[in-house]
Amino acid sequence: MLKVSGLNAGYGSVNILWDLEFEVKDGEIVAILGSNGAGKTTMVRAVTGMLKPSSGSVQFNGDELSGKNTRYILDAGIVQVPEGRQLFTEMTVLENLEMGAFNRKTKEHFRDNLKKAYGWFPRLEERAKQAAGTLSGGEQQMVAVARALIGEPRLLILDEPSLGLAPNIVDDILKVASDMADHDGISVLLVEQDITKALACADGGYVIENGKIVLHGTAKELSENEHVKKAYLGI
Ligand code: ATP
Repeated sequence: MLKVSGLNAGYGSVNILWDLEFEVKDGEIVAILGSNGAGKTTMVRAVTGMLKPSSGSVQFNGDELSGKNTRYILDAGIVQVPEGRQLFTEMTVLENLEMGAFNRKTKEHFRDNLKKAYGWFPRLEERAKQAAGTLSGGEQQMVAVARALIGEPRLLILDEPSLGLAPNIVDDILKVASDMADHDGISVLLVEQDITKALACADGGYVIENGKIVLHGTAKELSENEHVKKAYLGI
């Protein structure tokens, strides 16, 4: 589904990502793991068209996306939940969810998808008329995930969903991601610093350090890897 190869990108003359290679298959949850400043968000920007790669290829179901704009990439089915959620805090939960329906197809399907989103996160239905900014951090993250789902992703990118949230809320959010992968065939690219949580729900993953992929494997292989244990899990 998504195949990234030889991807280089950076800011101005500073290169941040070095020859990244990774793959996400249909219905798979793939974790991109790394600490602060490793280049994870830069990678998300390069895949979603927010940052133009200096070289390399981003293939999505055979379509070359490198150099395409965010609108084209969104229409192709790559929808992200950005780091920090980026909700419209003055607008209601429902209005934020409406923003997720960005094209004719998703506008037509909005009612059905809204029902589905409320099924995943019942609390959002109770809070539909409330301003998003008045919700707890966990509820705001649910709005951000639900808004992305209303955009009917084929690949959902979750950028650091655990940031600042209580562990049980993170579990709820990752459970929805797993269910979507299992039942709806949506693939998930899970970008995380919380390696334990990410590996508990991912099929496999890649470890990124200083803009380079230094390791990849199944979730089991990574959680048993000596470098991962020492550098990230403290064991
Ligand atoms: P975090 O978990 O903190 O979000 P990250 O792994 O997502 O970290 P990036 O945000 O991709 O890392 O940052 C990678 C490198 O790129 C860092 O050295 C950072 O200082 C640099 N960087 C990020 N954004 C910019 C920017 N807009 N302009 C210049 N340099 C940037």
